[in-house]
Amino acid sequence: MARIYRDDDADISRLDGRTVAILGYGNQGRSQGLNLRDSGVAVIVGSPSDSSAESALKDGFAVSRIGEAVRQSDVQLFLVPDEVMGEVYGEEVGPNLEPGSALCFASGYNVAYGLLSFPETIDVMLLAPRMVGKGVRDTFLSGIGFPSLLAVEQDATGDAWGTVLALARGIGSTRMGALKSSFMEEAVVDLFSEQRGDLLLLRLMFEALTEAGIDPDVAILELYGSGEWVEIYAAARDMGMWPQLQLHSHTSQYGQYIAGQRYIDAERSKTSLKRLIDDLQSGSFARAWQDEYRAGMPTLQAAMTTTRHHPLQEAEDRLYAELGRREPDSDSGRDRPRAAETETETETETETETETLSPGAER
Ligand code: NDP
Repeated sequence: MARIYRDDDADISRLDGRTVAILGYGNQGRSQGLNLRDSGVAVIVGSPSDSSAESALKDGFAVSRIGEAVRQSDVQLFLVPDEVMGEVYGEEVGPNLEPGSALCFASGYNVAYGLLSFPETIDVMLLAPRMVGKGVRDTFLSGIGFPSLLAVEQDATGDAWGTVLALARGIGSTRMGALKSSFMEEAVVDLFSEQRGDLLLLRLMFEALTEAGIDPDVAILELYGSGEWVEIYAAARDMGMWPQLQLHSHTSQYGQYIAGQRYIDAERSKTSLKRLIDDLQSGSFARAWQDEYRAGMPTLQAAMTTTRHHPLQEAEDRLYAELGRREPDSDSGRDRPRAAETETETETETETETETLSPGAER
């Protein structure tokens, strides 16, 4: 069982007299920066001069270019997207690190797959929230906190664990509990969760229902649009996945425990999921993704375009406009990777979907 660290295990005074730089003021950067500042830590922000820098200035932080923020700080939280980290590290972070610097990641990806190399004189740590950026801030303010995974890859100072625990406390994670992990474990579990195939399965369910004559709007509301599954997953979080079934009718319980399981080929699904884990552990997925990113994300772009014209998406557009959730003919930027957005587009989070392995599907 993983060791779980709570507030009493973390001494935030380890950050006294040290300046923490938030490198990248996006989903995680903004929330972690605000939480640390509210916890009494000295925080500055490093960001290219763009909308993120403006947002950090508006929040009252001193903002500079990333390289300058690295030079002015003792601890650096590296919070730019994983796919640009190599470039940003090579140009701005690496050249400005001093011996004794403590570089902290929120994702295991780049370190687990050996995509960055560090001087031996710095600490390299992982503080990976199991929570979206907005939740990092909201649960800090509500006092609940959120779980994180922690690891130390390199301990040059001999106090890397003390520093990462202090940071975990400062962002509000040790209130609920931060688990001892590793960069590779975090990378595998995070990528596995993203690639388990839910969206493809959802689309197949929509196709099966509508081909059987069910109205598309009725299908969408049942599958996700009503918000019922939000409540079910909230209950699973609070009560446990199977204990929350007591909130459902006996008919539903019989369906979930017994009837519905007849249609899943458990052995094939498990085999597919093991292959997925093999691809993640071997680095094969990471290599493919690096190549895709370097080529300008053509496969991702194609998948987004296909999805945009799928009957499920078209039905959702109509239904959500009807329900007042979306402007008719609105463009939320969901049909292209975020890197391809222009400045005038909305900041709405995009749900990306790639052709990934679905439980039970052959490759
Ligand atoms: P975002 O996509 O929100 O971007 C973070 C920041 O990086 C933004 O300020 C963005 O600026 C800036 N940025 C983008 N491209 C570049 C570039 N080429 N050079 C310099 N800065 C750049 O990232 P997240 O906050 O989502 O992710 C940060 C880290 O946190 C990642 O390692 C991620 O895996 C991890 N993480 C994310 C979670 C999440 O829920 N989002 C959950 C747990 C961990 P601008 O927007 O102005 O372009």
